[in-house]
Amino acid sequence: MLGRTARWLRMLGFDTYYDNRAADSELRRLSLEEGRVLLTKDTALHASMPGGSSRLVAAVHPRQQLQEIVSAFRLERFDLPPRCSLCNGDLASVPRDSVQEAVPPYVFRTQERFQRCSRCRKIYWRGTHLGRISRFIEAIRRAGG
Ligand SMILES: [Zn+2]
Repeated sequence: MLGRTARWLRMLGFDTYYDNRAADSELRRLSLEEGRVLLTKDTALHASMPGGSSRLVAAVHPRQQLQEIVSAFRLERFDLPPRCSLCNGDLASVPRDSVQEAVPPYVFRTQERFQRCSRCRKIYWRGTHLGRISRFIEAIRRAGG
């Protein structure tokens, strides 16, 4: 239920683990061992966590969920390098010539800079979802004053 929100947090550069098939016990263990705050809509899971180690997300829509999380944790550092939205891997710049076969021709013609996920190899460029999410985040920041 938080899948899209998790992808957006990764695009904002936040190290975000997400697995909607993981058992509660696994999520609890990972969160405590790795010092991650568990974000959940599951009240029972939230109640089973030590205080401060989890947060019950109230909002239903992904945009509102992101807004809720950003303001709850005062996530004001939006200068972190984006992470892979699919797998949370690090992105590294790659030479333009190296992606020609891997991206649509129009994208190759119009984009100068590309990044590739170190883990799943997905290729990113500006003007795709990063552009849209940035505008949304700007709106959140303005609304938050
Ligand atoms: Zn990846």
